[in-house]
Amino acid sequence: MPGTGLGIFPLLALMACLGCGCGKSQVDQALDSDANGFLCPDCKAKFYTDRKVFANHCPACNKGNIEMVVGFNCPADKHVTYSPRGRGFVACEQCGKVTSALSIPREAELKTWGAERKTAAEVGVE
Ligand SMILES: [Zn+2]
Ligand SMILES: [Zn+2]
Repeated sequence: MPGTGLGIFPLLALMACLGCGCGKSQVDQALDSDANGFLCPDCKAKFYTDRKVFANHCPACNKGNIEMVVGFNCPADKHVTYSPRGRGFVACEQCGKVTSALSIPREAELKTWGAERKTAAEVGVE
């Protein structure tokens, strides 16, 4: 039966692919989270929302120039400094060395950082 032997190859290739996890890189996993953290530069409010919700304005002062927060990992003491992204790497708030890696904070880390959970309605998302 010609064809039978060939037909199994795509299946094996697919299984091998799933096995090695090539569909999702380590970088993607590091950047995956269950929440979005924000900082308001005006009133310094820290808050976070559900992963699906991208806040339109600050829940405390209603201003729209809020900034999304990411974690900056310090290579020296493993401390994570939470700060708005987009300005290069910040200095570690604990030891002052320049951080070298980014991570997306998860809900538990945002709570520890001092952020409060806000609903979509509170941050202007209908
Ligand atoms: Zn604010
Ligand atoms: Zn440090």
